[in-house]
Amino acid sequence: MPIRLLDETIAAQIAAGEVVERPASVVKELVENALDAGARRIVVEARGGGLREIRVQDDGCGIPADEVELAFARHATSKLQSAEDLWAIRTLGFRGEALPSIASVAQVICVTRVAEAELGVELRIAGGEVQSRLPCGCPVGTTITVRNLFYNTPVRREYLRSEATETGAISAIVQQYALAYPEVSFSLVVDGRVMFQTAGDGDLRAVAVELYGLEVGRALLPVQAEAGADELWVAVRGLISPPDLTRSSRSYLSLFANRRALQPRGALAAVVENAYHTMLMKGRFPIAILDLRVHPAAIDVNVHPTKSEVKFRYAAHVHSVLGRAIRDALISGADIPVWDAPDPAT
Ligand code: ADP
Ligand code: MG
Repeated sequence: MPIRLLDETIAAQIAAGEVVERPASVVKELVENALDAGARRIVVEARGGGLREIRVQDDGCGIPADEVELAFARHATSKLQSAEDLWAIRTLGFRGEALPSIASVAQVICVTRVAEAELGVELRIAGGEVQSRLPCGCPVGTTITVRNLFYNTPVRREYLRSEATETGAISAIVQQYALAYPEVSFSLVVDGRVMFQTAGDGDLRAVAVELYGLEVGRALLPVQAEAGADELWVAVRGLISPPDLTRSSRSYLSLFANRRALQPRGALAAVVENAYHTMLMKGRFPIAILDLRVHPAAIDVNVHPTKSEVKFRYAAHVHSVLGRAIRDALISGADIPVWDAPDPAT
């Protein structure tokens, strides 16, 4: 066959395979967009494991009416202006791939309004094609509804696991962001039932209490450290469990680098576990919520399409600051009985 350029829809479906693996990846991309839009309150709803419907509602800045279609075009982003910007990314998104990818494999309704506009817009897209565009009354912010995910890519749909597994993955993603952004209120509604809701008042321990329960939330030890200057600047904040409070999987390791959620398996997770040294029993893992910040030029987030892996320019330095912060927290927590931990209400 002769060489031809792929038609836009097929190209978008192929690209979608990288970004949209499963319902939880849709949730991740939409939540990241909401956070980038400055939302203070984000409501995530899922039905049928996220395949029937995913809806993410935010009170962020909204999308200007004349840019809504563009937001769904490939490589369209308001977040990167030049190649230079790639070296100091401050937003969660930047590739301009999420919305077009999602819209190419689902039926999407985007309702959005900016503060300056009296009326908002409702745009409907299915399989990458705009179906309709109507003015509509709505609050400032954006609500994106994604229905029948993978309806036009049945093979991908077949590879998905059970509805319960997909719901679990969605819940894990929303929990991650609730922990990373305690100043933003997150609600998760599954099949019409509220699973959790955080206050959005900035209190990380209160988020931990909401997600993990009062006993765990109270027992967590505070971590706080800062070192270096300029490109070597590193700050760590968060909560970790004392060595006698562990879990049998790594899913309670919530690691964030410059506010981006990281895989609980990489090098940073190893640093956390090593800091507990011999205090952990084999096959047991700590609970940790660690918010790591480095100079934006000292981190490369452009390594992986889902952006869940990052590269630190001064990895050894970052690891040593993190390891020390955890050891310090464990030592200062060692002689405090668990129930004397600060009250979450104070
Ligand atoms: P990226 O996030 O990489 O820029 P996306 O495809 O996720 O790419 O989004 C494209 C553009 O649409 C964004 O750059 C942003 O301008 C706009 N956008 C998407 N979601 C929202 C939202 N919830 N609120 C405001 N603007 C949004
Ligand atoms: Mg995005």
